[in-house]
Amino acid sequence: MNLDFNLPEDVEEARQKARKFANDEFKEEIAQTHDHEELYPYELRKKAFKAGLVRIDNPWNMLLTMEEFCRVDPGLGLSVLASVFGSELLLLYGTDEQKQKYMEPVLDGSKISALAVTEPGAGSDVAGISTKLETSNNEFLLNGQKMFITNATIADFFYVLARTSPPPSKEKRHHGMSVAIVDRQWPGVSVNKLKGKLGMRATDTAEIKFDGVKVPKENIIGEIGKGFYYIMTFFNISRVYVAAQSVGIAQGALDELLNYAKNLGSNEESMQFILAESAAKIEAARLLTYKAAWLVFQFNPDPALTSMAKYFSAEVANSVTESVLEYMGQKGLLSKLERLYRDSKITEIWEGTSEIEKLVIARTLVKRAMQGDQIVK
Ligand SMILES: Cc1cc2nc3c(=O)[nH]c(=O)nc-3n(C[C@H](O)[C@H](O)[C@H](O)COP(=O)(O)OP(=O)(O)OC[C@H]3O[C@@H](n4cnc5c(N)ncnc54)[C@H](O)[C@@H]3O)c2cc1C
Repeated sequence: MNLDFNLPEDVEEARQKARKFANDEFKEEIAQTHDHEELYPYELRKKAFKAGLVRIDNPWNMLLTMEEFCRVDPGLGLSVLASVFGSELLLLYGTDEQKQKYMEPVLDGSKISALAVTEPGAGSDVAGISTKLETSNNEFLLNGQKMFITNATIADFFYVLARTSPPPSKEKRHHGMSVAIVDRQWPGVSVNKLKGKLGMRATDTAEIKFDGVKVPKENIIGEIGKGFYYIMTFFNISRVYVAAQSVGIAQGALDELLNYAKNLGSNEESMQFILAESAAKIEAARLLTYKAAWLVFQFNPDPALTSMAKYFSAEVANSVTESVLEYMGQKGLLSKLERLYRDSKITEIWEGTSEIEKLVIARTLVKRAMQGDQIVK
């Protein structure tokens, strides 16, 4: 029996370091300004890199930093940490040249990446994308449109999922896709910032148009035609990160309630019920997230468990922020809680909506039951 719920010392240290950074740097006034004015926090990003806090090459550190940053301010935290978005694709499938040219500058903070999958007509249905990468002499021509892309106006380059060949059949719509690295400054690329979103307003979100963009063959990641599988593998990683964002947001709301109760010395029963229910939900979400992450980070993911962590933690983030906000009434509406409440919504949408996560869970479990397999790892 070697079950051990303690985090290794170095990981616990990384958590404490992230917590201190967020508490020191994500001041309420800074968070409010970036939220109200939809400003990207360039300076904070620089400081976080300098402090060695953005580490996709050390996923446990990244996961706990995500949780701690979102606990203090999700908009600022995500802006900083998502500046490496999608770069696990290069860690997993990139050539040495691609890693040197694109991944290393992302890891040292000198460049920003973005991942462009979603299109106006294809969000949850990734296999339905229509952006095309067509062969032309010794290169590719990229045409199409991407929607809701994080970092699109500030990124140096994008990882773009596009069709390199038509689907062979209705059942195999996910075949024939590839991922290409596309510089934002190349001719034919245009971006348009989307303003006025509900939450995570410090993060940059935009649509991208590709109009006859020339893409060199060496910018294709991995094998031609395997793009869909690469993106699904990436989602296994990014979904546990979203689960950690959700745990952080819920914990941030509980912190507000605990502060309120502590200052008032309140033993009011309605408050105690909300506090107890929220704390129990958060602990359950955290354990589920860490278990799913533990499997993902040792290259043994359980997609059903990953989806459970993403779906459940997002629901906890939304329900906890809502009940704490409701309990605190006007004090809540004029505090950091109103931002946490708005920021929590996106956790039920990006990297797979809650409905999609539930479909993954149900389909996987039924298949395993039919095959007589273990239901979850
Ligand atoms: C702020 C923000 C940042 C984002 N950043 C990125 C990014 O960096 N890169 C990127 O590629 N994308 C990004 N996205 C896009 C995000 O991943 C999509 O919004 C998400 O996948 C859902 O797609 P959709 O919005 O087109 O909704 P749809 O897929 O149209 O879904 C609409 C509704 O229908 C439901 N639904 C859809 N299909 C089914 C089904 N089969 N069964 C049951 N219900 C279903 C959904 O759950 C949802 O409730 C971002 C989105 C936002 C809002």
